[in-house]
Amino acid sequence: MPEGESVRTVVSCSSCGSVYAAEKWPDGTVQPIGKRTGCDCGSNEFHVVEESDSAVIRDEEID
Ligand SMILES: [Zn+2]
Repeated sequence: MPEGESVRTVVSCSSCGSVYAAEKWPDGTVQPIGKRTGCDCGSNEFHVVEESDSAVIRDEEID
């Protein structure tokens, strides 16, 4: 079995905030699809944008 199976995710440029579809690899690497050389702004640092389907649980309790 090849271990190089990626999953689709969404990343955001750490510099300018542009959002790209990306692949996330088991080792944690994220590769923006079609942006091998990095963002248009010149940055090649991205962070994964988590889909916010699951509600953020806050510490507040509602009576
Ligand atoms: Zn950018």
